[in-house]
Parts: sequence; C-alpha cells; structure tokens
Amino acid sequence: MVHRCINCGRTVTGLDAGLTKKLINRGAEKYFCIKCLSEKLSVTEENLRERAAFFKKNGCTLF
Ligand SMILES: [Zn+2]
Repeated sequence: MVHRCINCGRTVTGLDAGLTKKLINRGAEKYFCIKCLSEKLSVTEENLRERAAFFKKNGCTLF
C-alpha cells in the first residue's frame, strides 16, 4: 500500500513511515515524508536517516 505525505503529497517510504511513528505518533496512520519530518522537527534529513539506522540496528519493529 502506498502512502502519501500529508504535507506535500510525496510518496512515503517504509523508512519515512517508521520515523513518523517513532518520532511523532506511534499509532500514526497518516505519514510525513522525510523532508517534511526534518522540517517539522528542525533537524536534517541526514540526522533522521542516522536515527532510523540506529533504531533498526537496535531491533525496533517499526523499521
Ligand atoms: Zn512531505
């Protein structure tokens, strides 16, 4: 199933959806793309990718 960013309409990847759940709302059913997430949280996309990799490495089930 393809999700679209609720802010810009860009296609949301599994990683973006995982980050939205992890950082915004665990029960989220609407997602942000990584670009909008980074703007919303005032961090870089690179920072979010690193955090996603960290969560994944630690066995987070959202990724
Ligand atoms: Zn977006």
